[in-house]
Amino acid sequence: MATKHDLIVIGGGPAGYSAALYAARASLDVLVLEHGMPGGQIATSDVIDNYPGIPSCSGAELGQKMQAHAEQAGAHSAYGWVQAIEKDDSGSFVITTDMEQLTARAVVVATGATPRQGGFTGEDAFRGRGVSYCATCDGMFYRGKRVFIIGGGNSAVEEALYLSNIASSVELVVRRDEFRASRGMADRLLARENISVRYQTSITDVEGETFINAITFRDNATGETHVERFDEGSVGIFVAVGHDPATALVEPLVDLGADGGVLTDDGMATRTPGLFCAGDMRSKTLRQVITAASDGAIAAMSAYQYIEQHN
Ligand code: NAP
Repeated sequence: MATKHDLIVIGGGPAGYSAALYAARASLDVLVLEHGMPGGQIATSDVIDNYPGIPSCSGAELGQKMQAHAEQAGAHSAYGWVQAIEKDDSGSFVITTDMEQLTARAVVVATGATPRQGGFTGEDAFRGRGVSYCATCDGMFYRGKRVFIIGGGNSAVEEALYLSNIASSVELVVRRDEFRASRGMADRLLARENISVRYQTSITDVEGETFINAITFRDNATGETHVERFDEGSVGIFVAVGHDPATALVEPLVDLGADGGVLTDDGMATRTPGLFCAGDMRSKTLRQVITAASDGAIAAMSAYQYIEQHN
């Protein structure tokens, strides 16, 4: 088995790379395992404009900078799709990836969150053929077309603003009579000429041959439904209804809160000594780059103290 690391960080988003930066600066031997792009969820964000000191930056660029910063401090990154985390009799953590087994004295898990499904009939069948979860990834397929975005939060508004520069028209489908998004974001949206909003509306069903050609809408005030038909492939639906904490990997080792996130103490410790969780996978109220980065820094320092005490 390979050398035992002081700390293995699972997940290369803002929480993971902040943990790696702080751990490396504390002279820990730290390895970050990531199976995608650095940056995690922000890697597909067109613009990040709420991280203090960085007025505007693409998510991909910010993710790369975070990785470079942590590596400059001495952290290492490796590809790895982690399958299991176990604690052996000696108190070490054994991390099994799709390629190898690694060991560490402590672990910070920062696996983020995954997009929630819209829950309408046909969603899975038309995924990638009219149903998408990422405007930055798939927006180009809808140039000059008509798109619907499900959701009323900041993510839905961001997706709508992005797609309004590509699609001919953007219609937000909001299930209640108001947005969850911040006032500022909603005002920006409402000022955009080719964006409109269908309040108290849900999409219940999509149909088509190869691509979507019919969508069923429900008026949530009356319960009435109606079907709208389109030329096959002329419309797209983007689902932006929030995210679920990605906890599957740690569930045997942690407790979960009512929102599905991992319960930690103020030091990001879980109920398994030496296992810390950080970022959007935690049970928390504000999931932002800055709160993820903060969690990561705290988790790293807690891991440092844990390693010092258990040496
Ligand atoms: P969110 O804030 O939880 O909003 C989810 C939206 O989807 C709500 O409007 C919700 O409606 C709706 N929804 C949930 N399930 C639905 C369903 N099955 N069908 C239809 N609509 C459904 O999620 P988010 O927009 O992904 O944002 C997550 C966090 O990231 C938030 O804290 C947000 O502020 C933050 N964020 C910030 C920025 C930024 O500051 N630039 C950008 C993106 C995200 P209800 O309101 O009725 O529940």
